[in-house]
Amino acid sequence: MDWAPIFQSKVSEYSQGDQWQLQFDDTITKQQDAGWEQYERTIFARFKCSLCRRTWPSNLVKVIFHFRLNSHQGMVKARAFRQNCKKCTNAPMEDLIVEDEVINILMDNLVKNIRKKCYHEIFDYVPREHTGVEVENPHEPAHCEGCRAGVCVGGAALPNVRLFHGGRGRGGRGRGGRGRGHRY
Ligand SMILES: [Zn+2]
Ligand SMILES: [Zn+2]
Repeated sequence: MDWAPIFQSKVSEYSQGDQWQLQFDDTITKQQDAGWEQYERTIFARFKCSLCRRTWPSNLVKVIFHFRLNSHQGMVKARAFRQNCKKCTNAPMEDLIVEDEVINILMDNLVKNIRKKCYHEIFDYVPREHTGVEVENPHEPAHCEGCRAGVCVGGAALPNVRLFHGGRGRGGRGRGGRGRGHRY
């Protein structure tokens, strides 16, 4: 996952000469360490089973960032929660495959959050949303690291399909045609 260079180029426009770096860290959780800010997003990604080669999409992939600025050194720790194959026994957790556009939007949102919290910029902040991809399969808590770590809010109660409502012209109709009934 090549998030770091994209993050670097975006943050450098606003960092007033401070040095920032982004590193993945599989140990961070929702628990916030003292002195660190936290930012969390839910993104669309795909996974590929390394055993059976099956792929599946998910609209409920949690990403957590912890960041701080200290003596002109900015540090971002990032963690993306993995999923594993529901068809294979002992399937390993797989890293996500994320489209460039999704990474781009994610890094834009992260940098905006850093500008607010570390540089105290004041601006209206509406996170950019990926226009979304319809996903038919339900979220599988048993096969999701985020659910196991308690970061997927609602877990199984959240169908994959209804997370992204930012896109225009997607229409609310025609979804949920899997016999789940309507939500009122
Ligand atoms: Zn598999
Ligand atoms: Zn989950």
